[in-house]
Amino acid sequence: DACSAAKEVDIFPQMPPFDYTPPPYAGPTAAEILAKRKEFLSPSMFYLYKKPVNIVHGKKQYLFDENGRRYLDAFGGIATVCCGHCHPDVVKAIVNQTETLQHSTILYLNHAIADFAEALASKLPGDLKVVFFTNSGTEANELAMMMARLYTGCHDIISLRNAYHGNAAGTMGATAQSNWKFNVVQSGVHHAMNPDPYRGLFGSDGEEYAKDVQDLIQFGTSGHVAAFISEAIQGVGGIVELASGYLPAVYNSIRKAGGLCIADEVQSGFARTGSHFWGFETQGVVPDIVTMAKGIGNGIPLGAVVTTPKIAEVLTRRSYFNTFGGNPVCTAAGLAVLRVIERENLQDNAHVVGSYLKERLNDLKEKHEIIGDVRGRGLMLGVELVTDRQLKTPAKVEILQVMDQMKDMGVLVGKGGFYGNVFRITPPLCFSREDADFLVDAMDYAISKL
Ligand code: PLP
Repeated sequence: DACSAAKEVDIFPQMPPFDYTPPPYAGPTAAEILAKRKEFLSPSMFYLYKKPVNIVHGKKQYLFDENGRRYLDAFGGIATVCCGHCHPDVVKAIVNQTETLQHSTILYLNHAIADFAEALASKLPGDLKVVFFTNSGTEANELAMMMARLYTGCHDIISLRNAYHGNAAGTMGATAQSNWKFNVVQSGVHHAMNPDPYRGLFGSDGEEYAKDVQDLIQFGTSGHVAAFISEAIQGVGGIVELASGYLPAVYNSIRKAGGLCIADEVQSGFARTGSHFWGFETQGVVPDIVTMAKGIGNGIPLGAVVTTPKIAEVLTRRSYFNTFGGNPVCTAAGLAVLRVIERENLQDNAHVVGSYLKERLNDLKEKHEIIGDVRGRGLMLGVELVTDRQLKTPAKVEILQVMDQMKDMGVLVGKGGFYGNVFRITPPLCFSREDADFLVDAMDYAISKL
């Protein structure tokens, strides 16, 4: 009736104002693109929504569809767009470099790759200062694992259940979620119990979970291992922050077994956690190899492995490089990204806005029984939906309904976790307090509509 409709309009959350009009779009319609995609693109590529959105333009933390409709981007191109869409400094760096030199080969000298390697090394602790550029996170992890095997002379690698490290042979082996694994040869990886404070056996006791790695070394290997690889906060796995105290204890066991410690910072790096620049710093450890991608280029295809001079030596035994890794356009973008993060204090913003958003999401949990858990750090947050808090039954259907409703209201969030019932909130790091309010109000409204 009119009265309740009016009331509904009152509480219907409104997107914060944004003084910007995207250029008019004259390209093909969503239906035309969908038809082409169905015919010409791999059917393995799925869409986040039953009726996919056609995104044609981006500015800061917002995306626009073909009708000029604005969406708050709370997924950030899967934790990738850290500086905001089309940041002018990043665009300028890309355009300048493209006009100067798009590509030669790393077999010649060029300053772009060296400048960025130096800047990147300055962000890492200890002796982590030798950089190898790749094109993706998968490639970075493949290389890190191979380096550890070459360096130690061992083959066994330990990773975590629920981890995602990539989709090539080696990294698919390290990935540990059946929905991301094909039945092809993925040798030499053992998966340890996940130190998951919400679903794990030992709650938040990181040191207790770490004993499982000791067990794996003792019973699953020769007693010597090549490496341990993990994210500090699992992204694809549903924003699972490893129980505190876990990494120091595991790093200790791995090093005693002669192995190297690899930190996969593909999602949790580049200031996303707010409190720290790298995810591993949240547990006070220093890895031997750090891998990165996503945020490193704000969406430009780029990845990197950073390690110590001693470990890097192993690659000199053969010829080893790739055609595009360290491409000057990508590294020029990377350098601009680092400067923007620093100049615009995006790490502080991720910390302040992320803490506020988490607080508001926790309040929402008090209100809605369906929210089983709120977790994560900075602007890497997860909201797990369950139909029964006691049994932690994944609310797989309900999450789709809430997502769709939020999309209709203008908020795009990601989804993940093994059961697909966790909202992944990983927006550009320029996300504001008003954006946080809008996101929570939209989620509140959408959940109320279930
Ligand atoms: N590692 C982590 C933690 C990831 O989240 C991903 C991708 O989502 C990868 C590695 C693989 O990176 P890419 O998709 O760039 O190959």
